[in-house]
Amino acid sequence: TNPVGGNEDEPEVQQTSEHSHPYGGPINLMKFDEHENVIIDEDSLERTFNHPLVKDRKIVAVSIIGAFRKGKSFLMDYALRYMYANYKSVAFPDNPLTSKTNWVGNLEEPLTGFTWRGGASRDTTGVVLWSDVFLDEQKDPKTKKIEKLAIILMDTQGLFDTKTSATDNSRIFALGTLISSVQIFNLNDVIQENQLEYLHMATDFAKFAMKQHKKYSKGSKNYKPFQTLIFLMRDWQNVVDFEYGNQGGAEYLAQVLNIDPKQPKTLQDVRKYIKESFDQRLCFLMPHPGFEVVNNNNYDGRFSALSEDFQTQLKDFLYSLLQPKNLKKKKILNNEVVGTEYLEYLKVYFEAFQS
Ligand code: GDP
Ligand code: MG
Repeated sequence: TNPVGGNEDEPEVQQTSEHSHPYGGPINLMKFDEHENVIIDEDSLERTFNHPLVKDRKIVAVSIIGAFRKGKSFLMDYALRYMYANYKSVAFPDNPLTSKTNWVGNLEEPLTGFTWRGGASRDTTGVVLWSDVFLDEQKDPKTKKIEKLAIILMDTQGLFDTKTSATDNSRIFALGTLISSVQIFNLNDVIQENQLEYLHMATDFAKFAMKQHKKYSKGSKNYKPFQTLIFLMRDWQNVVDFEYGNQGGAEYLAQVLNIDPKQPKTLQDVRKYIKESFDQRLCFLMPHPGFEVVNNNNYDGRFSALSEDFQTQLKDFLYSLLQPKNLKKKKILNNEVVGTEYLEYLKVYFEAFQS
């Protein structure tokens, strides 16, 4: 096992939550310093993706993005719990996976992982990677060959707060889109027009960054540049018209992204652009987690305190996101990439970000 930060060869992790995690911690891959310079943790990048267990595996990259204090890290901590119950990992290769179906485990156990309590400080604003990488082997439905996957989870911090400029926000959003195969856009209540416009701007940024690099800009135009975008609606209220979960989400999103010739042209364009940029656009409607969660300052994240609806939908969401057959491999220029290729790609984009 790998006690956090215990070994010099292990990535340096920031461990700010009260309860530490036995197999990993958050790594600030990209952040701003006090002079607004961008700092990239290249050592951690190298260590993670050149690791013998990761370098030749196809990458699956799940990222979450959205305003601060809207439950992103909280959700990703439950995603981690799901992952440790269902997958082996670099730090825990002998995981016996005894609790696969009962992945929640102890209902009273405090939540650990990405830090989720309190506001993000300026020095952690940016992209945060979970230091441990999950491993899976599965048969490719087309080639019938066994394929080895490396699954990474990423969080973002400090976006859309008062300290981060609109440009920095959209650049971080763009970066998240470029480096993930599944981008979760975490939103509160309903999708607003300015959030779609924002998504448009950030996606445009991402496409622009892609075209800056010759090596990655060749190839056919017959595919969409990015894979899956999930609108994750938190504290969903309108259950009369759209029920919780995937189905209600699909109906809601169809309505939101519907192109109506009577709409102003700019609204139509935003919708077209989003459809042309992502292979798959999903939406999931999450209930309110319950008042214990939002009102009790000492709440430690335990499952038992969540509202029954939230418990049910949280399980559904994570199952549909993370069960082996739903994992989405990262594609660059329409090609699936392994750890070392992904590393090269990350370096290019992080560098572009610095300038
Ligand atoms: P982040 O800044 O988006 O990462 O938000 P956090 O995960 O740190 O959560 C901020 C606060 O929101 C915590 O006190 C959580 O208990 C609470 N929270 C978590 N999920 C939800 C949710 O779905 N709805 C609401 N209203 N609060 C939530
Ligand atoms: Mg957070």
